[in-house]
Amino acid sequence: MKIGVIGLGYVGLTTALSLAKLGFKVYGNDKDKEKMEKLKNGICPIYEPGLDELLVEMKEKGNIEFIDNISETIRISDVIFICVGTPTNEDGSPDLSQVEEVSRIIAENLNGYKLIVEKSTVPVQTAQWIKRTIKLYSHENAHFDVASNPEFLREGSALYDTFNPDRIVIGVESERAKEILLKIYEKINAPKLIVDVNTAEIIKHASNAFLAMKISFINMVSDLCEKTGADIKKVAEGIGYDRRIGREFLSAGVGYGGYCLPKDIRAFYYIGKIHNLDFSLLELVERINNSRIDRLMEKLKKALWHLKNKKIAIWGLSFKPNTDDIREAPSIKIVKRLINEEAIISAYDPKAMENFKKIFQNIQYGKDKYEVLKDAHALVILTEWDEFKSIDIQTIKKLMRTYIIVDGRNIFDCEIFRGQNIEYYPIGRTCI
Ligand code: NAD
Repeated sequence: MKIGVIGLGYVGLTTALSLAKLGFKVYGNDKDKEKMEKLKNGICPIYEPGLDELLVEMKEKGNIEFIDNISETIRISDVIFICVGTPTNEDGSPDLSQVEEVSRIIAENLNGYKLIVEKSTVPVQTAQWIKRTIKLYSHENAHFDVASNPEFLREGSALYDTFNPDRIVIGVESERAKEILLKIYEKINAPKLIVDVNTAEIIKHASNAFLAMKISFINMVSDLCEKTGADIKKVAEGIGYDRRIGREFLSAGVGYGGYCLPKDIRAFYYIGKIHNLDFSLLELVERINNSRIDRLMEKLKKALWHLKNKKIAIWGLSFKPNTDDIREAPSIKIVKRLINEEAIISAYDPKAMENFKKIFQNIQYGKDKYEVLKDAHALVILTEWDEFKSIDIQTIKKLMRTYIIVDGRNIFDCEIFRGQNIEYYPIGRTCI
């Protein structure tokens, strides 16, 4: 079975290399020429643990090939995974133009039966639109199936998640499509849920909307904890023990970000709206998330009074640890607010600084977590990278101008700072 993967971003590249590792012959294509050049030279264009090694291994084995021409990629493949972006339009509706463009090119290059697998996150009924588009642009007796196989990987552990998923959702309309997808995932030990395509599409959006809702819920409760002297970490532990609730996604903080949750919650809300359904619950989820930025800025200003000409050190720019991805990261909003307040910013992130520099050229960047602390009036923690979880109090005192830490990821125990003359402001807990 020859598999084509169109779009080689976080999802597409992980999918392509994982399928290659499973023993399939994979052809990868992306319209981004720079990305393709890197891949052809064995250089991974993104940071994702284990991906660069797998790329080299699969290239050496000859299991993956990168092909510049999308038409050729389609023609030589039996199965085509669509992994292109699905960003948000101004009005919150999902922008499906990349999916539509690929569908048209597939239509023009159909040369025998093909299974087209929608892996990008798309609104319910998109597979129907792909089908219609392919029929519209191809010759009359085009022979194909469209399946939905949503992706649930988490950036930062994408490869692990791909080989150890909680479930594999297979949305199909034909026995043939079902058999092909079951064959592809045969070696992966996970529950395989066979459903219709509309159901599969909704499963993905509903999952992400639910996860975002959990985060906003715990953040809402964390505000109450701060007002009343309770401890959100203990509250989360207390409710998380309940198996009906579960412990994951109950970390209060500066809010969710990244490429998926913000856009998917907007898209799901929009889908509800066009079907005349009241999905306003999701509007509130987004509103609570946005207010996290205000909460953090309030804390900083309460500690420092004015921010003008104050040096603020930032630890963490990526939207979560173990990735270089900064799309919709809270750090972007915080840095913009700090610039508006005329603060001096000095930032450090283990992997995301190069991406951040593309947006913010005029802030300072440090080569390590302590360099940015020199003469800083406050440290703001925005990503819970492991390397930030240990802190040397004496170094802090030697380097910082005033000893203030605003921790947007709640990574330290209050005890560490007690009696040290360091003001520590976490989320949903009171430490001073
Ligand atoms: P990405 O932006 O990293 O990758 C998309 C790639 O598609 C880009 O490299 C782009 O150049 C390429 N592309 C766009 N149009 C193309 C075309 N016509 N031909 C060839 N290539 C084209 O995005 P991503 O993070 O990989 O996400 C892809 C999809 O998967 C989205 O729908 C997203 O919601 C979904 N998803 C993402 C994640 C995640 O954690 N990133 C997880 C699950 C699902």
